[in-house]
Amino acid sequence: MLGAVNPPVFENSVFTFATAEELGEAVRNEDERYVYWRGTNPTVDLAQRKLAALERGERAKCFGSGMGAISATISSLVSAGDHVLVLGAVYGPTTQFLRYLEKFGVTHTHVRDLEEGDSAIRPSTRLLYFESPSYMAYAVVDIAGVTGWARERGLVTVMDNTWSTPLFQKPLTMGVDLVVHSLSKYIGGHSDLVGGVVVGPARLIRPLALTEYQLYGAAMSPHDAAKVIKGLRTLPVRMAAHQERGLAVAAFLRDHPAVRSVNHPGLPSHPGHAIAVRQMSGFSSLFSLELDTESRPEVGAFLSRLRHFRIGVSWGGFESLVNAPALSTEESVRATMGIPVGLVRLSVGLEPAEVLIKDLGLALEGMSA
Ligand code: PLP
Repeated sequence: MLGAVNPPVFENSVFTFATAEELGEAVRNEDERYVYWRGTNPTVDLAQRKLAALERGERAKCFGSGMGAISATISSLVSAGDHVLVLGAVYGPTTQFLRYLEKFGVTHTHVRDLEEGDSAIRPSTRLLYFESPSYMAYAVVDIAGVTGWARERGLVTVMDNTWSTPLFQKPLTMGVDLVVHSLSKYIGGHSDLVGGVVVGPARLIRPLALTEYQLYGAAMSPHDAAKVIKGLRTLPVRMAAHQERGLAVAAFLRDHPAVRSVNHPGLPSHPGHAIAVRQMSGFSSLFSLELDTESRPEVGAFLSRLRHFRIGVSWGGFESLVNAPALSTEESVRATMGIPVGLVRLSVGLEPAEVLIKDLGLALEGMSA
């Protein structure tokens, strides 16, 4: 429009009609028609179309947060009496949401692998939920293997693909039914946005858009949608730089005597590397390492010695961030999840790798002293 290089932001909460009949018809099809922005909006719609195309899905629905997308998606697939299988480690609040659903009669079981899945599955199991690479441990799941297993047992699969972004991994092409993302990480890319999306076939997205999206009200704003569209434009360039820096930092840490292990699926030494290379076309820069310590104060002191990595939650932005579950997660939850005391998560940003490596090297020197 007008030769503008950026699409306009439709700052409209309401859209009007010439007749009452037209309004009625639009309300019945509000997933595709503009009525009120809690349902959809042209700028949000444009972001949705771009995300669906990149993820190779038929339809996408954007939300006001990743958790908005995750909670609405799970709610749309289960009813009272249903059971959910959770494979591997997943984002903490996703588990919290599944616990919350217990008051509505929906139960869940965490399993480490498909063998445990076969023991835990019930006639009421409806849904299999997972992430790959997994939360904090960054273990790689064989996506096609899991979706084949789930299909044979009549389960719907939902996968959180935030780590890889739809640029580096396309789970719908490997049989996953619905893919969810937090857009607050690499897709937004500048730590100035909280958003989420679910992508998949119209037969699953349409009911969700007409019911849970409307009723929970976790709608995305057109301004945030404009940021998503901007983020998508530079995603390939940023991800290439994140990948390069992340691998350089991970390789440095792997060889350091104060580090027990590095959990980065892009390292050839990672147990899931061969599967990762088969199902992913690149690696993001969020990974964990285990410091050679069992002391929480020592982990805290290491974090505080870092100058370029800033201590904080979230990831995927320009600035490098560090976090440690031993310091930020309830002790019982950390132990139940099997997360070691010395585990530290790094989100490698876009600063030069040598600056970040020097920062980590100095902080590690302090540890072994
Ligand atoms: N999924 C993963 C893997 C996450 O790390 C997060 C947030 O940290 C979410 C989902 C939730 O996203 P949001 O913070 O946008 O609600």
